[in-house]
Amino acid sequence: MRIITAIKEMQSYVKHNYRRGRKIALVPTMGYFHDGHVMLIREARKLCDRLVVSIFVNPLQFGRGEDFATYPRDMKRDLDLAKEEGTNVVFAPTADEFYPPGYSTFVDEEKISKKLCGGFRPGHFKGVTTVVAKLFNIIRPHTAVFGQKDAQQVAIIKKMVRELSYPIHIIVIQTIREKNGLACSSRNEYLTVHERKDAALLYASLQKAQDMVKAGVRDAGKIAESIRAHLASSPVIKPEYVELVNPNTLERVSQIGERTLIALAAHVGMTRLIDNIFVEP
Ligand code: AMP
Repeated sequence: MRIITAIKEMQSYVKHNYRRGRKIALVPTMGYFHDGHVMLIREARKLCDRLVVSIFVNPLQFGRGEDFATYPRDMKRDLDLAKEEGTNVVFAPTADEFYPPGYSTFVDEEKISKKLCGGFRPGHFKGVTTVVAKLFNIIRPHTAVFGQKDAQQVAIIKKMVRELSYPIHIIVIQTIREKNGLACSSRNEYLTVHERKDAALLYASLQKAQDMVKAGVRDAGKIAESIRAHLASSPVIKPEYVELVNPNTLERVSQIGERTLIALAAHVGMTRLIDNIFVEP
């Protein structure tokens, strides 16, 4: 497995493999691998001749007062895991290599990135679309693999790929969860033992919502209310939003008529977590 930190070197690797007609897959990550990352890497491995995993804690997608400086990092362990899963290249540029001093070019989706998390993390998705577009330009993958855990990110990336005409196939992997149902996240590391136990309520509340839909409830307001009530049973959980939306446009729905995304964000103690689930009648 090669470790590449320079953009130029990454580009020559890509050129070399394009000349040989090889298919490239990319898994973009911020590292500190958990089972979710491993599933993405495993899936991508099946879909290509050359697998590139990027590890880059993207400063652009962190707001002021967010956890950029303290975001968990463990490059050695990540490299071991990536190698074990058959990765060909880990692309791990420094922030200065990726955004040299004076950097001022950005990619911004202006509609759906303003909804859900966008309302609470201004600039976050502009950072995401900019880093992903730049990775796409450097690595020119045929396929890129993302996780459904970040449902809004998936919707925005798919829209960006369509609207900027990237010839890239986007694959989405279901959310991988810990034993108690909590969605795997590098940020789970921040949780105390007690918070981690209560954080399981996030998924439990979504599952209860799914049961309500199965039982015939269609009123989005009622379902959101039930989720909020469920979360209120923990004193350490402070919900930021609970919304039922169309999975592509992220527009709110009032009734569950077709496939609907139920997405939530909540602070568990000091840690901000997100989760989501699909429901359909
Ligand atoms: P991150 O390193 O948090 O930026 O995530 C890198 C990729 O892994 C993104 O496409 C995420 O959506 C995906 N991912 C993160 N957590 C999970 C999870 N629990 N299950 C599946 N994919 C995930």
